[in-house]
Amino acid sequence: MLHNFGSINLDHFYRVPHLVHPGETLASRSYHVGLGGKGANQSLAMALAGGRLCHWGRLGRQDAWARDRLARAGVDVSHLLLVDEPSGHAIIQVDDRGENAIILFPGANHGFEPPALEALLASASPGDWLMTQNECNALPQLLPRARMKDLNIAFNPAPMSEAVMSLPLDACQLLFVNRGEAAWLVGLSEASDAEILLTALHQRLPDTATVLTLGGEGAWYQAGDVRHYQPALPVEPVDTTGAGDTFIGYFMAAQQEGQSITESLEFAAHAAALSVLQPGAADSIPPRAAVEHALH
Ligand code: ATP
Repeated sequence: MLHNFGSINLDHFYRVPHLVHPGETLASRSYHVGLGGKGANQSLAMALAGGRLCHWGRLGRQDAWARDRLARAGVDVSHLLLVDEPSGHAIIQVDDRGENAIILFPGANHGFEPPALEALLASASPGDWLMTQNECNALPQLLPRARMKDLNIAFNPAPMSEAVMSLPLDACQLLFVNRGEAAWLVGLSEASDAEILLTALHQRLPDTATVLTLGGEGAWYQAGDVRHYQPALPVEPVDTTGAGDTFIGYFMAAQQEGQSITESLEFAAHAAALSVLQPGAADSIPPRAAVEHALH
């Protein structure tokens, strides 16, 4: 079983000709509210890929539709709390080239108290996976406790922040990072070659397998001396929001059903490529049938 301790956000999308400049007021061409948050996106992607998981999250009671959306996709939401607080939400600009810029308000995602962590740990069995990202509070408490309970931890330190640097990252079995997150973790420039980032990540976390995603340049998997490269598919992106989350959810589902690393990377890259062809975060995650069709 996999437990995703993850954020749930309402994403407010604004389509703009370019990302807003400092001091500029820019008219948006369209507006749309969708389900988002890295946690919810990864849960949805994993469920759409056929994975089995339980989402641990907090959501404002007024936004219960977001919980129902996850449930309809097959996510176990029995540990998703509806609370009398504002939900986490994001203000997302998407420009004509498909680039995005995001403001995030954590809201209910930052309200986890020790009893919720204890409940999660009590419901998980040794050997289960705990997946998480950097959009909920309480990670400094949760990660060491999860490791003590022999849970396998898959961590996506996104969005990256200074707080990540003091987390016990060596407790993680699997780390998903994009180029910027990798560079931050190892104190190198974002312009560094993937090879240099991978070597530095290995030196910093020798016992943690890493998936380094590089947008349109593909992705690397590294565990010890083993490395696999997965090219990105040649597509014209419409909106790259959620590509990383789609990749992670599909990769974890493939691993859960026993696919090899190279098969899992290929499955994830096809899903992520389909996601960049659609606008939105959760709304852009393709169903498994579409990914299988693209693969064959
Ligand atoms: P985001 O934060 O936007 O969700 P990310 O920065 O975490 O994304 P990326 O490294 O941009 O993640 O992308 C993850 C994967 O998605 C890539 O490894 C690739 O397989 C796929 N992908 C992303 N951008 C493109 C693209 N332009 N063309 C094809 N595939 C892409």
